[in-house]
Amino acid sequence: MKVLIVFAHPEPGSLNAALRDVAVAALQEAGHEVQVSDLYAMGWKAAVDHADFPALAAQSRLKVAAASHEAFTQDSLTADVKAEQDKLRWADTLILQFPLWWYTMPAILKGWVDRVYAYGFAYGVGEHSDRYWGNRFGEGTMAGKRAMLIVTAGGWAEHYGERGVNGPIDDLLFPINHGILFYPGYTVLPPFVSYRVDRFDEARFNQTAQALRERMRTLETTPPIAFRRQNGGDYVIPTLELKPDLEAGGTQGFALHVTPAA
Ligand code: FAD
Repeated sequence: MKVLIVFAHPEPGSLNAALRDVAVAALQEAGHEVQVSDLYAMGWKAAVDHADFPALAAQSRLKVAAASHEAFTQDSLTADVKAEQDKLRWADTLILQFPLWWYTMPAILKGWVDRVYAYGFAYGVGEHSDRYWGNRFGEGTMAGKRAMLIVTAGGWAEHYGERGVNGPIDDLLFPINHGILFYPGYTVLPPFVSYRVDRFDEARFNQTAQALRERMRTLETTPPIAFRRQNGGDYVIPTLELKPDLEAGGTQGFALHVTPAA
């Protein structure tokens, strides 16, 4: 397999960097090719602005989606964005790795998504009409590829449990797993989340590294999260509401968009 790890931590000596190295070594030992986009080390520009669209006249009003579409179609996106898109085309597996900061990914990684996920590449793909609402949520440019998150959190696992004060981790990560990975077509694997990491000692590091190696070894066989496909018959078009008969069982919120286990 060809694996791209997009890594967001500012400190080369961090726990995240050590875990990234564990993941890379495990993947390479299993015979996979690996590329890493180390966003801080690359000096990644996080904010979308006029400079992202060099072909757009300086005085023109910036409409981001329209400019993105035009630049993608005309191959005039900036070189840093095009290089990341090429890596995504190359990879059959994408891993996003980051520390949980304010319940989500660090801004630099969100900025990678904002800039690399161009109109025509990650969104606006396929027919958009009253009969069909695009190739997305299970279809799209990344269909057939796998993706997963590697996340560290200061909070305890219980804090992120069903009744934990932070809210369930699957809910917190839903906008990334469903909205950023499943949306352009990735098959999404369950995340690898390490909790209470600020108190890590050698023993816990070794335990976590071992579990991470196992996840890397089983990337191709791990069952994915069973997100419902937008065009798989579960949603009403064009309102994109889940069909009423599929809401049985009292499930609410984000979990509605996962097919219940048989
Ligand atoms: P580091 O600080 O690099 O290391 C953590 C611990 O691991 C240290 O004790 C270190 O000694 C040990 N360690 C590092 N490397 C090794 C190694 N190779 N071997 C053995 N031990 C090692 N947490 C939440 O749960 N929810 C939040 O919303 C949240 N928001 C945050 C927002 C901000 C802005 C910040 C700064 C932190 C936030 N946190 C939050 C905490 C954050 O998630 C953790 O601090 C982070 O995940 C730790 O990862 P790190 O790579 O930075 O760890």
